[in-house]
Amino acid sequence: MATESLVELSWGAWTDKGLRRRLNEDAFIADAPVFFVADGMGGHEAGEIASRAALQGFTGLVGPARVSTDDVERAFASAVAAVGSIETERSTAGTTLAGAALCDQDGAPYWLILNIGDSRVYRWHDDSLEQVSIDHSAVQALVDRGEIDAAEAERHPQRNVVTRAVGGGSAGVPDYWLLPVRAGDRMLICSDGLTKELDDGAIGRALAMEPAPGAAAQRLVHEALLHGGRDNVTVIVVDVHGVIDEDDDPTVPGEDIDEDTVPRLEMPGSAEGAGDARIRPW
Ligand code: MN
Repeated sequence: MATESLVELSWGAWTDKGLRRRLNEDAFIADAPVFFVADGMGGHEAGEIASRAALQGFTGLVGPARVSTDDVERAFASAVAAVGSIETERSTAGTTLAGAALCDQDGAPYWLILNIGDSRVYRWHDDSLEQVSIDHSAVQALVDRGEIDAAEAERHPQRNVVTRAVGGGSAGVPDYWLLPVRAGDRMLICSDGLTKELDDGAIGRALAMEPAPGAAAQRLVHEALLHGGRDNVTVIVVDVHGVIDEDDDPTVPGEDIDEDTVPRLEMPGSAEGAGDARIRPW
């Protein structure tokens, strides 16, 4: 029988429409083994519809301890189709999509990181914050060409221009990364409403202050609001407590998952019955 290591996770998520925007066009799914943020765009509520449509394809991956990379690619294809089918009279609907799925590679656990647009995936380990995803943005292209540095990018007039997206007239090609899952990893997935208010140093300090993932997600959103809250802000924090190799452990993978905070895909007008599974903006 093949060895399959068990991964113990806990997670939390928080979202807020911010202080300037009328709608929250961000959406997220945080339910093992999939953790994704989508930041909709297009105006006239098209963005709100697009971000939620993009995540619908990922709801089918919730439940098993791990999924395959093919599963994630299929979910992404369904996201592209779902957003493409949204017709709006006055604008083109589109959304970013970024996140991590716990995937199996020959029995070993890996994070499959996906990104399209300028939402971000970070990994925090031993008090060190590392940005995993690379923005598809006009300013990132300028940074890549050496024309501006990271500090100038934060103030650049084109800092909100995204060069790839799901929908929105983009060819819709995401980037993928595979990272081995390590005990002590803390994955951070967020919309640009966080990273346009807080730099990496401030994000790292907030993560260090909050041992519980749900509290860390709330703190980060709160600090983004304190820094101006100019955009919708969404944060998912996922902690890896352990990776256990057990040949003969009868435990079903998934039973070890700590479900003290289990936010799910946030849908406008979804049923009250979702109860503690839902995170509401405060
Ligand atoms: Mn945004």
